Amino acid sequence: MITVLLGPPGSGKGTQAKVLKEEKHFLHLSTGDMLRAAIQQGSPLGLKVKDIMARGELVSDDIVLALIKEKLETSGAKTNVVLDGFPRNLAQAKSLDDLLRSSSMIVDKVVSIEIDPRELIERLTGRRTCPTCGAGFHVKFQPPKKDGICDSCGGSLVQRKDDTETVIVDRLKVFEQQTSPLREYYQNKGLLAVVDGSQKPVAVTKEIFKAFGI
Ligand code: AMP
Repeated sequence: MITVLLGPPGSGKGTQAKVLKEEKHFLHLSTGDMLRAAIQQGSPLGLKVKDIMARGELVSDDIVLALIKEKLETSGAKTNVVLDGFPRNLAQAKSLDDLLRSSSMIVDKVVSIEIDPRELIERLTGRRTCPTCGAGFHVKFQPPKKDGICDSCGGSLVQRKDDTETVIVDRLKVFEQQTSPLREYYQNKGLLAVVDGSQKPVAVTKEIFKAFGI
């Protein structure tokens, strides 16, 4: 089953994709994580996308499509894949369909995690991650035991450059303009399930599992 999690920044796509990976052994493909890894490595790709991402804009379709293609090909995965943060516009969705079709695959199910945008600012500005082990925290909703220190590995927590209020407002606009039309695209294909993202993460997980029939 090839699945897509749709939703604005901060709706919990990454959190839910991690659960699918840990509990159901899905291959988790996050274009945002791949791009951040490229920035951290200082690779040519990282240098190219760094400023675009810091502004909260989308990087070019060719870049993300190449990343997804490479990961799908090298993993050899034909099933149990969750796409997080991709596709992000209609052109990417159509390219994904073409890419999958060339390997006799299709998108099987899409979950749209929906939430009032006003909730997202607080969620995103408080978000902290551990660059060493990838664990996620929130200064208010899930604080680490020791301020700024990762509970799992003792690494120093960081805030994403694009999790500042001005950039968040722009990222939400980009979502509304470019990504939200995908809801209709997948609904017309009969693939869309909608989940209330304002619930506790475990309740969201339960609904996603139900939508995926797992
Ligand atoms: P995310 O971690 O999914 O919130 O993505 C962080 C940033 O990476 C986005 O604001 C974009 O700049 C870039 N990005 C991630 N995925 C895509 C995509 N599918 N298309 C274009 N840009 C992307």
